[in-house]
Amino acid sequence: DHKVTIIDGKAVAQTIRSEIAAEVRRLSETYGKVPGLAVVIVGQRKDSQSYVNMKRKACAEVGIKSLDLDLPEDVSESDLICKVHELNANPDVHGILVQLPLPKHINEEKILTEISLGKDVDGFHPLNIGKLAMKGRDPLFVPCTPKGCIELLTRHGITIKGKNAVVVGRSNIVGLPVSLLLLKEDATVTIVHSRTKEPETIIRNADIIIAAAGQAAMIKGSWIKPGAAVIDVGTNAVDDPSKKSGYRLVGDVDFQEACKAAGCITPVPGGVGPMTVAMLLKNTLDGAKRVIEG
Ligand code: NDP
Repeated sequence: DHKVTIIDGKAVAQTIRSEIAAEVRRLSETYGKVPGLAVVIVGQRKDSQSYVNMKRKACAEVGIKSLDLDLPEDVSESDLICKVHELNANPDVHGILVQLPLPKHINEEKILTEISLGKDVDGFHPLNIGKLAMKGRDPLFVPCTPKGCIELLTRHGITIKGKNAVVVGRSNIVGLPVSLLLLKEDATVTIVHSRTKEPETIIRNADIIIAAAGQAAMIKGSWIKPGAAVIDVGTNAVDDPSKKSGYRLVGDVDFQEACKAAGCITPVPGGVGPMTVAMLLKNTLDGAKRVIEG
């Protein structure tokens, strides 16, 4: 009889948050200083607002001071850059998060490049990504969702070194950086994307699958190698008339079927999602420790 381990991301994230809260208390008692995170949002997008609220609340829970900047939709690019520069210079701010996407009239890449490297807690500055890609170099910060995926694997005692890892997706936010992290951890990494031919033959060879395509249940149970570790980043809304909201969230992996083959698997929701916020808090703590403790 096959037994699959369901990876409880919520529980792991809670453990990490407690660890962070203890460290924040120690910093506060030893140095009289607490980590600070600036959370910047531009405009009124509902989804962005809910993410930002979640992040601000999570800060408060572990004792990180969040500095909230809510800017109007029509803020100019130069005004936003000024704000970022102010935050770069503010000694109480150890991390700066600019919630994406930004309105069309603002060049995202330009804004991300203005964030001080030492405060780039999202890890999206091109220099931090560049260092992630280079052998023998380490970025100051690693993007949160990719870092959360690796943390879930290592905290479940899954060896990455020498394994065949297949990442589905190559975005700057998830697919690419998680591939680079797996490579740093000495996996043999294959990246599947929308132009890949016969993805199933590649995925069937994977000891570790990281799914980040944003395609509901595209990865079938029969594509999973017996015993594989499956980390499902995908968060897709599908119609569900039985729900009050009219929809439910599913991953990129056909969860029910995959459970029959996988060794362990993350559910959606309750897998990678909670880890992303926990890693943001961790990055902020690490940034603050570098400044406060040297
Ligand atoms: P993007 O849309 O930016 O990237 C999707 C990637 O998947 C692209 O590289 C694309 O290929 C590839 N892709 C699309 N369709 C297929 C397919 N049929 N077969 C193989 N590859 C495909 O998405 P993100 O990376 O931002 O996010 C991916 C998913 O993760 C989404 O569902 C998102 O909601 C979720 N997410 C969850 C987070 C969390 O905290 N849990 C955080 C961030 C994202 P190509 O490059 O060729 O177009």
